[in-house]
Amino acid sequence: MKGERQMTEPLTIKLKTLTPLWTGGVKGTCDRLHETGIIGSLRWWYEALVRGLGGSACDPSRHECSYDPKKPHDGLCDVCRVFGATGWRRQFRLEVLDHALSNASIEHTIRADRTYTDNKGRTRAPTWYFRDPNRSQRVPNTPKHGELSLKIQALSSSVSPEVIAGLIQFIADWVAVGARTQMGFGVVELANGRIDTEPLHDWLSALAGTETNPKLPSLQNAFFARIASKNGATEQETFNLKYDLRRLFAEDRNLRHFVMGTVRGKRLAAKIKMSRPYGNGLIRVWGWIPREADVYGSDWERNTVVELLHQHLKTRCTLQVWREFNSPRDTTGQEYDDPTEFLKSLLVSESS
Ligand SMILES: [Zn+2]
Repeated sequence: MKGERQMTEPLTIKLKTLTPLWTGGVKGTCDRLHETGIIGSLRWWYEALVRGLGGSACDPSRHECSYDPKKPHDGLCDVCRVFGATGWRRQFRLEVLDHALSNASIEHTIRADRTYTDNKGRTRAPTWYFRDPNRSQRVPNTPKHGELSLKIQALSSSVSPEVIAGLIQFIADWVAVGARTQMGFGVVELANGRIDTEPLHDWLSALAGTETNPKLPSLQNAFFARIASKNGATEQETFNLKYDLRRLFAEDRNLRHFVMGTVRGKRLAAKIKMSRPYGNGLIRVWGWIPREADVYGSDWERNTVVELLHQHLKTRCTLQVWREFNSPRDTTGQEYDDPTEFLKSLLVSESS
């Protein structure tokens, strides 16, 4: 049948990496390209966009959805319907073409150009340790100089590859893809020009509703910024910035851990991420700060936290772009109060 043939027509997208791309698992070494990290990013942003428009997006940490034809909507939220849940497969297949074996798993350190005094009175420089990703523009002998192709195939008529492709364009324009984006990996651009984001916009608009969850990531509590570094385009600059942003919350440990993340004790994912420099010393900074949060012992207020971050970027760096829903900080000068319009403005313009 004609309709079915259209449904199964796969789409191939070529990406060029602007900062190294971590395609390994979240914990494992990056010895082979894996789709998991890329699908994880796609799902994370799909959730945030659906939630931002008031659509149904469950809390993934609670495993709320499972397929049950006797329940309303088969027991699936708008996100699980596309990305899968217990008893329900993901409705598209994503394949990274030209898988490459890596020889790069070198322990690598980056030391920020900052010092602090530890609790024993010693002067220390904040240092990050991690393994280099294999697919980097900087690693010699990398196949195709940091290019890779993604093949997207719909497995049913419940999602079209164009919607997923639009999501990839959104990620390429504003944030980063793959695992370990908190280490500055994963800024990409589409090698063969922009993809039409209209199908994604139309698709998401149809899911818009009135659901809210003020504690989860959403287009309505996110921000997207781009700065030009005043201190050159070294990878160290990202880690200087990371350190400086942590220092903004020096007086409030619980708030600092909540915003910037921690790996000690109760692990918390960073809500603020920043890329390594790309282009001519551009750095992306993005994140989300919820309206409600349980931050123990802290005088918590979302706007105060976002304003602190915004002020730092504005005064200490050259802030080129700041996008935020319903905010006077938005550099377009428009305070979008309709999430669908706000999304549209993000989909038509590119950050870089
Ligand atoms: Zn769900």
